Amino acid sequence: MTIKENISLLPYNTFRMDVKAKIFAEYSSVEELRELLTRYKDERLLHIGQGSNLLFTQDFDGVVLHSAMRRARCVSEDADYVWIEAENGLVLDELIDQLCDMGISGMENLSHIPGEVGASAVQNVGAYGVEAKDVIETVRTVAVADGKERVFTNAECRYGYRDSIFKNELRGQYIITHVVYRLNKHLKAQLDYGNLRGEAGQHPTVTDIREAVIRIRRQKLPEVSETGSAGSFFKNPIISHEAYERLTRQIRDDRIPHFEQEGGVKIPAAWLIEQCGWKGRTLGGAQCYEKQPLVLVNRNNATPEDIVNLAAAICKDVKDRFGIDIHPEVNYI
Ligand SMILES: Cc1cc2nc3c(=O)[nH]c(=O)nc-3n(C[C@H](O)[C@H](O)[C@H](O)COP(=O)(O)OP(=O)(O)OC[C@H]3O[C@@H](n4cnc5c(N)ncnc54)[C@H](O)[C@@H]3O)c2cc1C
Repeated sequence: MTIKENISLLPYNTFRMDVKAKIFAEYSSVEELRELLTRYKDERLLHIGQGSNLLFTQDFDGVVLHSAMRRARCVSEDADYVWIEAENGLVLDELIDQLCDMGISGMENLSHIPGEVGASAVQNVGAYGVEAKDVIETVRTVAVADGKERVFTNAECRYGYRDSIFKNELRGQYIITHVVYRLNKHLKAQLDYGNLRGEAGQHPTVTDIREAVIRIRRQKLPEVSETGSAGSFFKNPIISHEAYERLTRQIRDDRIPHFEQEGGVKIPAAWLIEQCGWKGRTLGGAQCYEKQPLVLVNRNNATPEDIVNLAAAICKDVKDRFGIDIHPEVNYI
């Protein structure tokens, strides 16, 4: 294992916030993880992946844990499916790349989403009509309190839109060490989202779909290697049917983009933000991304305060104009 003290977290978060951690500890096995949990049982703990869904708002006065476990293996197969177990520290896109090379389908629509396997099962990452929960069979964890292993079935993870039990009731209580996916040996293409069908071409292979997804994402989203961001900063709000009717009357516009959803009507936060005139605008070093207003970027050495202030100003304007609360998807630390 590697333990460093008083180190900058700049390389460990995609927003590129230059904050410090009291201790940074990287483990290479579940045994080492257990050792660290015992050693630092009285410290504040934060397990990170690539830090692509985090906003560090200040120095972290505790222990940041990171996994250097990065293997994947086939654990079972039958005529139609293959079960792959991946370790938490493997970069999700590297896993997807390998699977596509082998012609294994199920995760190609999730191509190019930053982050590691462990966090993807916390976040239930999703893109182009597919979510991690569609392919996750089980999640292996270690309890922070006593180091015991607990396996969660897909149902026990209580997955929802960018949500799981690990973000709610069990927040901070379990570290995901392995994820088992059930994937298809035969391509089951999901092309009904956006312009994916057009971009992927006629009778695409799993690799064609992966490449199409990456092309589309590159047109709309900042590359983490070039521009600091945490992807979509806000969740899309879901409002009641009554609230939606009220809104169309209030702003005298029935062309508000909306999607029927269990429990109400989903309104794209990007549309609300753009209507408030924020697309492309900056506040300090932070910017509402010019190609996709749902994304906030570190345009010019933004401080945590710049990002927090920009997010707050956007939320306030959306609330004042539409009466709708929008909330960050990104974790403030
Ligand atoms: C440019 C860009 C585009 C993006 N596009 C998408 C997208 O299309 N769809 C989407 O869903 N997301 C997207 N995201 C968000 C992000 O990629 C995902 O949320 C991703 O799962 C975060 O992974 P990470 O490894 O960086 O996790 P981190 O940001 O490091 O951590 C996220 C959370 O998971 C916890 N965590 C991390 N590892 C573990 C573990 N092993 N066990 C328990 N808890 C853990 C952390 O404590 C934290 O609460 C995008 C981000 C960026 C920067």
